[in-house]
Amino acid sequence: MGQHRSLAEYDRLSPMIRKKKILLVFICLAMAASGAAGGVYWRVHGREEGPVKVVRNYDALRDRVEALATTSGAMTVQSLGEVRYEGSAWPILMISRAVAQSSKMSVLLTGGIHGNEPAGTEFLLQFAEMLAKDDTFYSDIAFDIVPVVNPWGWVHGRRKNGAGRDLNREFATFKAPEAVLMRDLCGRKRYDLMVDFHEDSHVAGFYFYRLANPDEALCRHMIADVRDAGLPVHDGRVMTLFNAREGIITSPLWTLRFARGIRQLSMSNYFRLEGCPQAFLFETPRRLKMAKRISMYRAVLEALLEETAGRL
Ligand SMILES: [Zn+2]
Repeated sequence: MGQHRSLAEYDRLSPMIRKKKILLVFICLAMAASGAAGGVYWRVHGREEGPVKVVRNYDALRDRVEALATTSGAMTVQSLGEVRYEGSAWPILMISRAVAQSSKMSVLLTGGIHGNEPAGTEFLLQFAEMLAKDDTFYSDIAFDIVPVVNPWGWVHGRRKNGAGRDLNREFATFKAPEAVLMRDLCGRKRYDLMVDFHEDSHVAGFYFYRLANPDEALCRHMIADVRDAGLPVHDGRVMTLFNAREGIITSPLWTLRFARGIRQLSMSNYFRLEGCPQAFLFETPRRLKMAKRISMYRAVLEALLEETAGRL
């Protein structure tokens, strides 16, 4: 992975980023101090009201995942551990596709950390099914795929887990068992690339977070492939502080460290800070049909895999 800059090198880059950094640190500190960040976050994501009810079947998902191992000898399925709520236990499943010869790169794909964002999970299942059917599909890449990080949330169509925790803010405190299991995975396996799949209900186009990734050409190529597929790209503000310019949110290293400092670290930020040289978070617009969201994920992931593997 010689072409990747180390975290320390990246931190020294770009005087422009440094100037913005001082201003943004000031704004963020002021917001954190006033409690505004929490208030804005609450308004953006809202309170999950209404009765908790089952909207999806985890046994059916498990059957679909386990069928992969019977389709292809190269695919295995394991449980990273179980989470328990209200007397029920859900395993967090990981699908792995090993490669015969020494692989060029090792990739982790994750979805469903927010249980009300089902397109990432569906895309990852379809992607795993393609890997199972065709051994030549990305034959030099070893994949680990966790389609549902938050099984209770996915079953009930809720953003948070069964204890009301937003798992994508749990990677500094690790009070949620799901986050502990993903931290354990990060501790025992080394990935060259990690992608976490999300959806956004406030935008009309695709965007992604490039987590401390200085490779401008790669990021632009990924967005170009979404556009080439005839799919919309978001240009403008998302949530509060972040701005997606032409579909790309530049999140330099200090923003990841800041999120850790205020105990709000996301899973993909955590993997990046723990040494994964490339990490991305993809967001598709929830207002589009599921098939379109899946097409967006496919276009951008294929661009990313082809570009990254091609450089090794
Ligand atoms: Zn999300």
